[in-house]
Amino acid sequence: MSQLKRILVTGGAGFLGSHLCERLVADGHDVICADNFFTSQKSNVVHLLDHANFELIRHDITHPLWLEVDEVYNLACPAAPGHYQYNPIKTMKTSVMGSINLLGMAKRCRAKILQASTSEVYGDPEIHPQPESYRGSVNPIGLRACYDEGKRAAETLFMDYHRHNGVNVRVVRIFNTYGPRMHPFDGRVVSNFIRQAISGEDITVFGEGNQTRSFCYRDDLIEGMIRMMNGPDDFIGPVNIGNPGEFTILELAEKVIARTGSKSKIVHRALPADDPTQRQPDITLAKQRLGWEPKVKLDEGLDRTIEWFKTVSLSDFRAPTPNY
Ligand code: NAD
Ligand code: UDP
Repeated sequence: MSQLKRILVTGGAGFLGSHLCERLVADGHDVICADNFFTSQKSNVVHLLDHANFELIRHDITHPLWLEVDEVYNLACPAAPGHYQYNPIKTMKTSVMGSINLLGMAKRCRAKILQASTSEVYGDPEIHPQPESYRGSVNPIGLRACYDEGKRAAETLFMDYHRHNGVNVRVVRIFNTYGPRMHPFDGRVVSNFIRQAISGEDITVFGEGNQTRSFCYRDDLIEGMIRMMNGPDDFIGPVNIGNPGEFTILELAEKVIARTGSKSKIVHRALPADDPTQRQPDITLAKQRLGWEPKVKLDEGLDRTIEWFKTVSLSDFRAPTPNY
């Protein structure tokens, strides 16, 4: 076992956060999960509650938090377009005020702190694949800006707390990640297509489906994130963590239909505003500095995700809380 640490995971009840908590608890660390359950539910972490080294707090990171910890993973933020556009002002507050609160805490207790940033900082990219040095093409006043610009501002805050206050930070830029425990109604493409295919509904491809995404399986992502937290102090990022395997959305729809054996038909719906046309991570840096690269191919990851979707009861999930 690695050295025992007190670790805070914000957004720890979410899709990625709950798997991160699981991994850190299994490694023997003292784990505190803080979440306001905006886009998640307790069922994601209920199996951890019996562990003496796991603690769950209902907390909203836009408010200060006073804890003594050695490390913070900041994952708290709605991640699906439908979720983060539900209350865009709150989304921006979560990225900006949440980061300020947590960076202040990390400064006080000299904790190392990692920000879950996103490929959305590249916006609709003109450079392909995207290296970390690319500064992005984001519409600052569009519907996605609350998330994209919020995450960009969070990166700025992380770097300024590092330069100005000596806080030990890490920034990972996560590319589309999927797997079991995605919220079935989050509206993201993998969860939508699998849910639609299993229940025999039409598969909704937005636009022609020529836009691309590169999909990373959640276990690969969690491994990359943990390596970054534990990597050398002279490598604070930002670093891309994602799977370079790039597919059009139409290809994804066809794969999901084939792998579920579904009779669902593909239908086309309007393309949302500012939908990025292409996205693929350049992971040279992660390979060189972290010795990390993804292992799970899309077909295998989809099979595991489809299996999980077949076990859940859709009535156990609800859409984000109104008036949040
Ligand atoms: P998720 O929605 O399942 O998890 C986010 C969690 O944060 C949820 O449990 C939610 O309730 C919580 N949360 C939201 N606002 C909060 C607040 N103000 N205070 C406390 N908790 C709050 O999404 P996810 O896919 O697990 O994403 C986790 C993180 O990774 C997010 O920061 C997201 O931006 C980032 N990310 C994810 C992906 C991906 O493809 N999954 C890609 C890029 C970045
Ligand atoms: N998409 C789609 N049908 C859906 C949901 C999403 O065609 O039912 C498309 C969406 O327009 C985008 C891509 O799939 O081009 C990925 O969408 P998602 O919301 O998963 O993540 P994004 O990468 O856009 O944040």
